[in-house]
Amino acid sequence: MPKVDIPGVVAHLRSSFDCYRTRDIAWRREQLRRLKRMVLEREADIFAALKEDLGKSTFESWVTETGFVISNIDYAIKRLRAWMKPEKVTTPLINQPGSSAVHREPLGVVLIIGAWNYPFQLVMSPLVGAIAAGNCVIVKPSEVSVNTSAVVAKGICDYLDPEGIRVIEGGVPETTALLKESFDHIFYTGGHNVGRIVMEAAAKHLTPVTLELGGKNPCIVDCNVNQAVAARRIVWGKFLNAGQTCVAPDYVLVHEKVETEFLDRMKSTVQQFYRANPKNSPDYPRIINQKHFNRLAALLDCGEVVTGGETDSSERYIAPTILRDVPVHSPVMDDEIFGPILPVLTVSHVDEAVSFINARPKPLALYIFSQDKRLQQRVLQRISSGGVCVNDVVVHVAVPELPFGGVGPSGMGAYHGRASFETFSHRKSVLSKSTRMDLPVRYPPYSESKLKWIKRLA
Ligand code: NAD
Repeated sequence: MPKVDIPGVVAHLRSSFDCYRTRDIAWRREQLRRLKRMVLEREADIFAALKEDLGKSTFESWVTETGFVISNIDYAIKRLRAWMKPEKVTTPLINQPGSSAVHREPLGVVLIIGAWNYPFQLVMSPLVGAIAAGNCVIVKPSEVSVNTSAVVAKGICDYLDPEGIRVIEGGVPETTALLKESFDHIFYTGGHNVGRIVMEAAAKHLTPVTLELGGKNPCIVDCNVNQAVAARRIVWGKFLNAGQTCVAPDYVLVHEKVETEFLDRMKSTVQQFYRANPKNSPDYPRIINQKHFNRLAALLDCGEVVTGGETDSSERYIAPTILRDVPVHSPVMDDEIFGPILPVLTVSHVDEAVSFINARPKPLALYIFSQDKRLQQRVLQRISSGGVCVNDVVVHVAVPELPFGGVGPSGMGAYHGRASFETFSHRKSVLSKSTRMDLPVRYPPYSESKLKWIKRLA
């Protein structure tokens, strides 16, 4: 049984929303400023919690968590007035004199459910959008990253308006209780199975959902690339957060002509980044918990180890591992790996990679390394994915103008930048007419000539 009176919290927020508390631009800006102050003033606590939960370095914690959230906040504050302005659209002659505009109105009381791998930004970044759009919000951080959950809860409680923004900590019982309530939007980040639970619960109330899910992100490496740069970028993106990244390259499909050279480069890059023993590198994180450690350790013998393969269960350490000669039907190619293991498979042509990828569920991210622009275009046109990064990995998520989200089984809906504001807003269509003129042609009794006029004016 949850310790918190969840229906009471939801009812309280709803009454705040119904009193228009959160709609003013002043309230939204103030909350965003306070949120930024919280991140800056509590940064040391946030870093300590991330270290405790995932062994994240300060560098990665800033780049992928606090720094990311601060830039989200600054971006939203700067553009908020423009986003909130009704967007004028043309009005056809038939509705003249009149003017038409799309108004953005807040949805109401929204729920944000986060995942453990980027446990700070995965709740804070959607929170920025929900506040900017003028909603009341409940944030439910992942209980798996227990230390960060506590810092998020305390920070929100200490800095933000409790009449509009609350945190409910906890796991399955708390989330189950939350999902019984009626929300105006649910924003969920996590795996497919719970995604289904969330969507099913939302359907009971006809609540719209955003599902930020995962999947196996393919990375195509053509034969005409700058191998050194490709290896550096792929190794960085894969072993960032020890592979526990929804947009990490899950597997590589390399052109057979360059396989050996590419594997050598990747191996030496791993050594360059994390030295001879990555276990001692302060930059290399740990696996979140024993369950995930065991799951990942069981995948290490799915191919020939090019580098890595070592584990230490007492520290939940798995070395950055690259595998070659991986059979297509081995367990490491079944589900999203979500850990520091990179299978490298070969293809004889990029078209073979396209067929391979299209025979599998649509990924969240697709990566293509090639100097050939026509080939890049062919891949872009033939593969559907949430997003794409050409000649790099992961960093497309840091472009605020690019909506971030999946397609098909990798998710629905998107956020980041303006897309976050839109996700938490209703686009209300408003036609405003004058009564000075009232065209008689639309009224009965109808006639051939009225129909002729209507056809001209419509
Ligand atoms: P998780 O275990 O933290 O679960 C996510 C949330 O669901 C948590 O808040 C948890 O409390 C809640 N939850 C768990 N079981 C539940 C249940 N039975 N009923 C209701 N709520 C429940 O995270 P996870 O699922 O292990 O997350 C990893 C997945 O998330 C990966 O597939 C990854 O790719 C994906 N992910 C996607 C994104 C994205 O932006 N698309 C970002 C990060 C992670």
